[in-house]
Amino acid sequence: METTTLPAMEYRRLGSSGVQVSVLSLGSWLTFGSQISDDVAEDLMRTSYEAGINFFDNAEAYAHGRSELVMGKLLTKFNWDRSTYLVSSKVYWGGDKPNQLGLSRKHVMEACHAALRRLQVEYLDFYFCHRPDKNTPIEETVWAMNTLVQQGKVLYWGTSEWSAQQITEAYSVARQYNLIPPTMEQPQYNIFHRNRVEQEYKRLYSTIGLGTTIWSPLASGVLSGKYSSGVQENDRLARKGLEWLKNSVMTEENIQKTMLLKPIAEALGATLPQLAIAWCITNPHVSTVILGASKVQQLRENIASLAIVPKLTPEILVRIETIVQNKPAEPEY
Ligand code: NDP
Repeated sequence: METTTLPAMEYRRLGSSGVQVSVLSLGSWLTFGSQISDDVAEDLMRTSYEAGINFFDNAEAYAHGRSELVMGKLLTKFNWDRSTYLVSSKVYWGGDKPNQLGLSRKHVMEACHAALRRLQVEYLDFYFCHRPDKNTPIEETVWAMNTLVQQGKVLYWGTSEWSAQQITEAYSVARQYNLIPPTMEQPQYNIFHRNRVEQEYKRLYSTIGLGTTIWSPLASGVLSGKYSSGVQENDRLARKGLEWLKNSVMTEENIQKTMLLKPIAEALGATLPQLAIAWCITNPHVSTVILGASKVQQLRENIASLAIVPKLTPEILVRIETIVQNKPAEPEY
Protein backbone atom coordinates (compact mmCIF):
# COMPACT_ATOMS: atom_id res chain seq x y z
CA MET A 1 0.00 0.00 0.00
CA GLU A 2 1.37 3.40 -1.07
CA THR A 3 1.88 5.76 1.87
CA THR A 4 3.10 9.01 0.26
CA THR A 5 0.89 11.86 1.44
CA LEU A 6 -1.31 13.40 -1.24
CA PRO A 7 -1.82 17.20 -1.48
CA ALA A 8 -4.77 18.82 0.27
CA MET A 9 -8.04 18.76 -1.68
CA GLU A 10 -9.72 21.93 -2.88
CA TYR A 11 -13.52 22.30 -2.85
CA ARG A 12 -15.52 24.47 -5.21
CA ARG A 13 -19.16 25.50 -5.39
CA LEU A 14 -21.05 23.73 -8.12
CA GLY A 15 -21.79 26.83 -10.18
CA SER A 16 -23.95 29.22 -8.19
CA SER A 17 -25.43 26.43 -6.05
CA GLY A 18 -24.48 25.97 -2.42
CA VAL A 19 -23.11 22.46 -2.69
CA GLN A 20 -19.34 22.00 -2.41
CA VAL A 21 -17.66 19.52 -4.71
CA SER A 22 -14.04 18.40 -4.56
CA VAL A 23 -12.14 19.82 -7.53
CA LEU A 24 -11.13 16.25 -8.39
CA SER A 25 -13.74 13.50 -8.50
CA LEU A 26 -13.84 9.85 -9.55
CA GLY A 27 -15.73 8.40 -12.51
CA SER A 28 -16.52 4.82 -13.39
CA TRP A 29 -17.00 4.76 -17.19
CA LEU A 30 -15.42 1.67 -18.82
CA THR A 31 -13.78 0.67 -15.55
CA PHE A 32 -16.29 -0.30 -12.80
CA GLY A 33 -18.14 -3.50 -13.59
CA SER A 34 -16.10 -3.98 -16.75
CA GLN A 35 -12.33 -3.43 -17.17
CA ILE A 36 -11.37 -3.65 -13.49
CA SER A 37 -12.14 -6.09 -10.70
CA ASP A 38 -14.40 -5.07 -7.83
CA ASP A 39 -11.33 -5.16 -5.56
CA VAL A 40 -9.60 -2.52 -7.67
CA ALA A 41 -12.82 -0.46 -7.72
CA GLU A 42 -12.84 -0.67 -3.92
CA ASP A 43 -9.22 0.55 -3.69
CA LEU A 44 -9.98 3.40 -6.10
CA MET A 45 -12.98 4.59 -4.10
CA ARG A 46 -11.20 4.30 -0.76
CA THR A 47 -8.09 6.09 -2.04
CA SER A 48 -10.30 8.84 -3.49
CA TYR A 49 -12.31 9.34 -0.33
CA GLU A 50 -9.22 9.38 1.87
CA ALA A 51 -7.71 12.02 -0.43
CA GLY A 52 -10.77 14.24 0.08
CA ILE A 53 -12.63 13.38 -3.12
CA ASN A 54 -16.34 13.70 -2.33
CA PHE A 55 -17.99 13.05 -5.72
CA PHE A 56 -18.38 9.69 -7.47
CA ASP A 57 -19.80 9.78 -10.99
CA ASN A 58 -21.91 7.07 -12.58
CA ALA A 59 -24.60 6.46 -15.22
CA GLU A 60 -27.27 3.92 -16.02
CA ALA A 61 -25.41 3.22 -19.27
CA TYR A 62 -22.05 2.34 -17.70
CA ALA A 63 -21.48 -1.40 -18.17
CA HIS A 64 -25.27 -1.72 -18.62
CA GLY A 65 -25.93 -0.90 -14.97
CA ARG A 66 -23.13 -3.03 -13.54
CA SER A 67 -21.03 0.04 -12.74
CA GLU A 68 -23.80 1.32 -10.46
CA LEU A 69 -24.22 -2.11 -8.91
CA VAL A 70 -20.51 -2.26 -8.03
CA MET A 71 -20.49 1.29 -6.67
CA GLY A 72 -23.65 0.63 -4.66
CA LYS A 73 -22.15 -2.49 -3.12
CA LEU A 74 -19.04 -0.55 -2.16
CA LEU A 75 -20.93 2.44 -0.75
CA THR A 76 -22.86 0.03 1.44
CA LYS A 77 -19.67 -1.69 2.52
CA PHE A 78 -17.83 1.57 3.31
CA ASN A 79 -20.85 2.89 5.18
CA TRP A 80 -19.49 6.44 4.97
CA ASP A 81 -21.59 9.19 6.49
CA ARG A 82 -24.03 10.04 3.67
CA SER A 83 -23.41 13.76 4.17
CA THR A 84 -19.71 13.33 3.27
CA TYR A 85 -20.09 12.22 -0.34
CA LEU A 86 -22.01 12.98 -3.51
CA VAL A 87 -23.05 10.34 -6.00
CA SER A 88 -24.51 10.78 -9.46
CA SER A 89 -26.32 8.90 -12.15
CA LYS A 90 -27.25 9.83 -15.69
CA VAL A 91 -30.31 8.97 -17.70
CA TYR A 92 -30.57 8.37 -21.44
CA TRP A 93 -29.25 4.95 -22.49
CA GLY A 94 -31.15 2.43 -20.37
CA GLY A 95 -31.72 -0.35 -22.88
CA ASP A 96 -32.81 -1.26 -26.40
CA LYS A 97 -36.58 -0.95 -26.09
CA PRO A 98 -38.24 2.34 -27.16
CA ASN A 99 -39.07 3.50 -23.63
CA GLN A 100 -35.68 2.53 -22.20
CA LEU A 101 -34.01 5.31 -24.13
CA GLY A 102 -34.11 9.10 -23.96
CA LEU A 103 -35.58 11.68 -21.63
CA SER A 104 -39.33 11.01 -21.58
CA ARG A 105 -41.02 11.34 -18.19
CA LYS A 106 -41.45 7.56 -18.22
CA HIS A 107 -37.78 6.81 -18.73
CA VAL A 108 -36.48 9.61 -16.48
CA MET A 109 -38.61 8.35 -13.56
CA GLU A 110 -37.96 4.64 -14.14
CA ALA A 111 -34.23 5.13 -14.68
CA CYS A 112 -33.95 7.17 -11.49
CA HIS A 113 -35.68 4.48 -9.45
CA ALA A 114 -33.46 1.79 -10.99
CA ALA A 115 -30.30 3.83 -10.27
CA LEU A 116 -31.36 4.36 -6.64
CA ARG A 117 -31.82 0.61 -6.27
CA ARG A 118 -28.49 -0.28 -7.91
CA LEU A 119 -26.56 2.36 -6.00
CA GLN A 120 -28.41 1.45 -2.78
CA VAL A 121 -28.95 5.09 -1.83
CA GLU A 122 -32.10 7.01 -0.91
CA TYR A 123 -31.34 9.94 -3.22
CA LEU A 124 -28.96 10.93 -6.00
CA ASP A 125 -27.00 14.08 -5.30
CA PHE A 126 -26.62 14.79 -9.01
CA TYR A 127 -28.76 13.50 -11.86
CA PHE A 128 -27.76 14.25 -15.45
CA CYS A 129 -29.60 14.09 -18.77
CA HIS A 130 -26.79 12.16 -20.48
CA ARG A 131 -27.53 13.68 -23.92
CA PRO A 132 -30.23 15.93 -25.41
CA ASP A 133 -33.28 14.01 -26.67
CA LYS A 134 -34.77 15.33 -29.88
CA ASN A 135 -37.85 13.11 -29.43
CA THR A 136 -38.94 14.58 -26.10
CA PRO A 137 -40.06 18.18 -25.53
CA ILE A 138 -37.69 19.92 -23.12
CA GLU A 139 -40.75 20.85 -20.97
CA GLU A 140 -41.45 17.17 -20.30
CA THR A 141 -37.90 16.50 -19.13
CA VAL A 142 -37.69 19.64 -16.99
CA TRP A 143 -41.01 18.77 -15.30
CA ALA A 144 -39.84 15.18 -14.67
CA MET A 145 -36.56 16.38 -13.15
CA ASN A 146 -38.45 18.91 -11.03
CA THR A 147 -40.76 16.16 -9.75
CA LEU A 148 -37.74 14.04 -8.73
CA VAL A 149 -36.26 17.00 -6.87
CA GLN A 150 -39.59 17.71 -5.13
CA GLN A 151 -39.82 14.04 -4.15
CA GLY A 152 -36.33 14.21 -2.60
CA LYS A 153 -34.96 11.54 -4.95
CA VAL A 154 -32.59 13.97 -6.69
CA LEU A 155 -30.88 17.00 -5.15
CA TYR A 156 -29.39 18.76 -8.21
CA TRP A 157 -30.12 18.02 -11.83
CA GLY A 158 -28.15 18.86 -14.93
CA THR A 159 -27.26 18.01 -18.48
CA SER A 160 -24.38 16.39 -20.34
CA GLU A 161 -23.23 17.48 -23.78
CA TRP A 162 -26.15 19.83 -24.32
CA SER A 163 -25.60 22.95 -26.40
CA ALA A 164 -25.71 26.37 -24.71
CA GLN A 165 -29.01 26.94 -26.49
CA GLN A 166 -30.56 23.73 -25.14
CA ILE A 167 -29.38 24.51 -21.59
CA THR A 168 -30.80 28.02 -21.87
CA GLU A 169 -34.12 26.62 -23.09
CA ALA A 170 -34.32 24.20 -20.14
CA TYR A 171 -33.50 27.07 -17.79
CA SER A 172 -36.19 29.30 -19.34
CA VAL A 173 -38.82 26.56 -19.11
CA ALA A 174 -37.97 26.06 -15.45
CA ARG A 175 -38.23 29.79 -14.77
CA GLN A 176 -41.52 30.02 -16.69
CA TYR A 177 -43.22 27.40 -14.53
CA ASN A 178 -41.35 28.08 -11.25
CA LEU A 179 -39.53 24.76 -11.43
CA ILE A 180 -35.99 23.90 -10.27
CA PRO A 181 -33.62 24.76 -13.14
CA PRO A 182 -30.56 22.73 -14.17
CA THR A 183 -27.53 23.40 -11.96
CA MET A 184 -24.69 21.81 -13.91
CA GLU A 185 -23.51 20.46 -17.23
CA GLN A 186 -21.09 17.57 -17.78
CA PRO A 187 -19.01 18.36 -20.88
CA GLN A 188 -15.83 16.91 -22.25
CA TYR A 189 -12.91 19.22 -21.44
CA ASN A 190 -9.18 18.75 -21.85
CA ILE A 191 -6.23 20.50 -23.51
CA PHE A 192 -7.40 19.20 -26.90
CA HIS A 193 -11.14 19.80 -26.53
CA ARG A 194 -12.01 23.26 -25.33
CA ASN A 195 -14.67 25.09 -27.35
CA ARG A 196 -17.80 24.32 -25.37
CA VAL A 197 -16.39 25.04 -21.92
CA GLU A 198 -14.31 28.08 -22.87
CA GLN A 199 -16.46 29.65 -25.55
CA GLU A 200 -19.96 28.28 -26.06
CA TYR A 201 -20.95 28.20 -22.37
CA LYS A 202 -19.13 31.40 -21.43
CA ARG A 203 -22.21 33.53 -20.82
CA LEU A 204 -24.00 30.77 -18.90
CA TYR A 205 -21.54 30.90 -15.99
CA SER A 206 -22.75 34.38 -15.06
CA THR A 207 -26.31 34.39 -16.40
CA ILE A 208 -27.57 31.11 -14.97
CA GLY A 209 -24.67 30.21 -12.66
CA LEU A 210 -23.83 27.00 -14.52
CA GLY A 211 -21.48 24.55 -12.78
CA THR A 212 -19.40 22.03 -14.75
CA THR A 213 -18.30 18.49 -13.93
CA ILE A 214 -15.86 17.92 -16.76
CA TRP A 215 -14.96 14.54 -18.30
CA SER A 216 -11.96 12.91 -20.01
CA PRO A 217 -9.30 15.29 -18.68
CA LEU A 218 -6.64 13.01 -20.22
CA ALA A 219 -8.47 12.49 -23.54
CA SER A 220 -8.90 8.83 -22.56
CA GLY A 221 -5.23 8.54 -21.58
CA VAL A 222 -3.67 10.13 -24.68
CA LEU A 223 -2.50 13.11 -22.60
CA SER A 224 -0.59 10.73 -20.31
CA GLY A 225 1.89 10.33 -23.18
CA LYS A 226 1.73 6.54 -23.05
CA TYR A 227 0.34 6.20 -26.57
CA SER A 228 3.40 7.83 -28.14
CA SER A 229 4.99 4.38 -28.11
CA GLY A 230 1.88 2.62 -29.44
CA VAL A 231 -1.02 0.87 -27.74
CA GLN A 232 -0.27 -1.78 -25.13
CA GLU A 233 -2.55 -4.74 -24.50
CA ASN A 234 -4.12 -3.44 -21.29
CA ASP A 235 -4.63 0.16 -22.37
CA ARG A 236 -8.14 1.54 -22.86
CA LEU A 237 -7.56 2.24 -26.53
CA ALA A 238 -6.63 -1.39 -27.16
CA ARG A 239 -10.10 -2.55 -26.14
CA LYS A 240 -12.35 -4.15 -28.70
CA GLY A 241 -15.39 -2.03 -29.49
CA LEU A 242 -13.59 1.23 -28.67
CA GLU A 243 -12.10 1.75 -32.13
CA TRP A 244 -14.33 4.84 -32.52
CA LEU A 245 -12.74 6.34 -29.40
CA LYS A 246 -9.22 5.48 -30.53
CA ASN A 247 -9.87 7.08 -33.91
CA SER A 248 -11.16 10.26 -32.33
CA VAL A 249 -8.49 10.86 -29.66
CA MET A 250 -5.34 9.02 -30.74
CA THR A 251 -4.57 11.25 -33.70
CA GLU A 252 -1.04 11.96 -34.88
CA GLU A 253 -1.55 15.63 -34.05
CA ASN A 254 -2.60 14.87 -30.46
CA ILE A 255 0.33 12.48 -29.93
CA GLN A 256 2.77 15.05 -31.30
CA LYS A 257 1.41 17.88 -29.17
CA THR A 258 1.52 15.65 -26.09
CA MET A 259 5.20 14.95 -26.68
CA LEU A 260 5.89 18.68 -27.05
CA LEU A 261 4.19 19.26 -23.67
CA LYS A 262 6.45 16.74 -21.95
CA PRO A 263 9.45 19.07 -21.38
CA ILE A 264 7.10 21.62 -19.77
CA ALA A 265 5.81 18.97 -17.38
CA GLU A 266 9.32 17.77 -16.57
CA ALA A 267 10.59 21.30 -15.90
CA LEU A 268 7.77 21.68 -13.34
CA GLY A 269 8.62 18.37 -11.69
CA ALA A 270 5.34 16.94 -12.95
CA THR A 271 4.27 14.04 -15.12
CA LEU A 272 2.24 14.59 -18.28
CA PRO A 273 -1.08 13.46 -16.73
CA GLN A 274 -0.45 15.81 -13.83
CA LEU A 275 0.17 18.74 -16.16
CA ALA A 276 -2.99 17.96 -18.16
CA ILE A 277 -5.20 17.65 -15.07
CA ALA A 278 -3.71 20.71 -13.36
CA TRP A 279 -4.38 22.67 -16.57
CA CYS A 280 -8.11 21.79 -16.33
CA ILE A 281 -8.17 22.88 -12.69
CA THR A 282 -6.78 26.33 -13.58
CA ASN A 283 -10.07 27.12 -15.35
CA PRO A 284 -12.29 28.69 -12.64
CA HIS A 285 -15.44 27.62 -14.52
CA VAL A 286 -14.55 23.97 -13.94
CA SER A 287 -16.29 22.90 -10.73
CA THR A 288 -14.75 19.42 -10.71
CA VAL A 289 -12.50 17.35 -12.95
CA ILE A 290 -13.77 13.77 -13.11
CA LEU A 291 -10.80 11.42 -13.09
CA GLY A 292 -10.81 7.99 -14.66
CA ALA A 293 -8.32 5.33 -13.57
CA SER A 294 -7.87 1.61 -14.04
CA LYS A 295 -5.16 1.37 -11.35
CA VAL A 296 -4.69 2.92 -7.92
CA GLN A 297 -1.21 4.04 -8.94
CA GLN A 298 -2.70 6.11 -11.79
CA LEU A 299 -5.24 7.63 -9.43
CA ARG A 300 -2.59 8.65 -6.89
CA GLU A 301 -0.48 10.16 -9.63
CA ASN A 302 -3.50 12.07 -10.92
CA ILE A 303 -4.58 13.35 -7.49
CA ALA A 304 -1.03 14.63 -6.95
CA SER A 305 -1.67 17.05 -9.85
CA LEU A 306 -3.17 19.36 -7.18
CA ALA A 307 0.40 20.28 -6.23
CA ILE A 308 1.16 21.33 -9.81
CA VAL A 309 -1.68 23.86 -10.10
CA PRO A 310 0.22 26.73 -8.39
CA LYS A 311 3.13 26.12 -10.78
CA LEU A 312 1.00 26.89 -13.84
CA THR A 313 1.94 30.57 -14.02
CA PRO A 314 0.63 32.81 -16.82
CA GLU A 315 3.99 32.28 -18.59
CA ILE A 316 3.65 28.49 -18.47
CA LEU A 317 0.05 28.71 -19.71
CA VAL A 318 1.24 30.80 -22.66
CA ARG A 319 3.90 28.17 -23.45
CA ILE A 320 1.17 25.53 -23.48
CA GLU A 321 -0.98 27.67 -25.80
CA THR A 322 1.95 28.06 -28.16
CA ILE A 323 2.15 24.29 -28.47
CA VAL A 324 -1.53 23.39 -28.69
CA GLN A 325 -2.62 26.34 -30.85
CA ASN A 326 -6.31 25.75 -30.18
CA LYS A 327 -7.42 28.56 -27.89
CA PRO A 328 -11.06 29.32 -28.75
CA ALA A 329 -11.76 32.84 -29.96
CA GLU A 330 -13.59 35.13 -27.54
CA PRO A 331 -17.38 34.92 -28.02
CA GLU A 332 -18.67 37.84 -30.06
CA TYR A 333 -21.25 38.87 -27.49
P1 NDP B 1 -9.53 10.28 -18.72
O1 NDP B 1 -9.48 11.04 -19.99
O2 NDP B 1 -8.71 10.81 -17.59
O3 NDP B 1 -9.12 8.77 -19.04
C1 NDP B 1 -8.94 7.86 -17.99
C2 NDP B 1 -8.16 6.65 -18.48
O4 NDP B 1 -6.83 7.04 -18.85
C3 NDP B 1 -7.97 5.64 -17.36
O5 NDP B 1 -9.08 4.80 -17.22
C4 NDP B 1 -6.71 4.95 -17.79
O6 NDP B 1 -7.02 4.02 -18.82
C5 NDP B 1 -5.89 6.11 -18.36
N1 NDP B 1 -5.10 6.79 -17.32
C6 NDP B 1 -5.58 7.50 -16.24
N2 NDP B 1 -4.57 7.99 -15.52
C7 NDP B 1 -3.43 7.60 -16.11
C8 NDP B 1 -2.06 7.81 -15.81
N3 NDP B 1 -1.69 8.52 -14.75
N4 NDP B 1 -1.14 7.27 -16.65
C9 NDP B 1 -1.50 6.56 -17.73
N5 NDP B 1 -2.79 6.31 -18.07
C10 NDP B 1 -3.75 6.84 -17.27
O7 NDP B 1 -11.01 10.21 -18.14
P2 NDP B 1 -12.28 9.31 -18.62
O8 NDP B 1 -12.41 9.33 -20.09
O9 NDP B 1 -12.22 8.00 -17.93
O10 NDP B 1 -13.45 10.18 -18.01
C11 NDP B 1 -13.55 10.34 -16.59
C12 NDP B 1 -14.98 10.16 -16.13
O11 NDP B 1 -15.80 11.14 -16.76
C13 NDP B 1 -15.64 8.82 -16.50
O12 NDP B 1 -15.30 7.79 -15.62
C14 NDP B 1 -17.10 9.18 -16.41
O13 NDP B 1 -17.51 9.19 -15.05
C15 NDP B 1 -17.11 10.60 -16.94
N6 NDP B 1 -17.46 10.60 -18.40
C16 NDP B 1 -18.65 11.18 -18.75
C17 NDP B 1 -19.06 11.20 -20.06
C18 NDP B 1 -20.36 11.83 -20.40
O14 NDP B 1 -20.82 11.70 -21.53
N7 NDP B 1 -21.00 12.52 -19.48
C19 NDP B 1 -18.25 10.59 -21.13
C20 NDP B 1 -17.00 10.05 -20.66
C21 NDP B 1 -16.62 10.08 -19.35
P3 NDP B 1 -6.21 2.67 -19.11
O15 NDP B 1 -5.36 2.36 -17.94
O16 NDP B 1 -7.26 1.66 -19.38
O17 NDP B 1 -5.41 2.95 -20.37
